[in-house]
Amino acid sequence: MSAFGDYERCSTCGEYGWGRTHKCPPRFRVWRPEHGEDFADAGLLYARDHEEAAERWAEKSDSDSAEYDIVGGEPAKVYVVEADGDEEHALLFHVEGEAQPVYHARQIEKDPSAPFRGR
Ligand SMILES: [Zn+2]
Repeated sequence: MSAFGDYERCSTCGEYGWGRTHKCPPRFRVWRPEHGEDFADAGLLYARDHEEAAERWAEKSDSDSAEYDIVGGEPAKVYVVEADGDEEHALLFHVEGEAQPVYHARQIEKDPSAPFRGR
């Protein structure tokens, strides 16, 4: 353990940081009028700025619905405002996502009976 504490995931905001020096980022309200939500329905989440709040909202929304609409190509429009801000000061964001393919390589045994034929 260092003088900064352990490097760990903050149980409040979910960010990784040094336990003793970590400070949670501010919170933002995010809501999606397209889906009939308004200011009163807004969820609170931690983010460094409005833009990140919109991105985190999209990530959570996709994973909560388990349908991954946004990352699947359906953009969303959301309002974002500071947790203690009011509706009039909300900024509107267009959020889209993309799924990235992931490749994994592992070494495997060669077949001595079929050298360099990849079997
Ligand atoms: Zn935190």
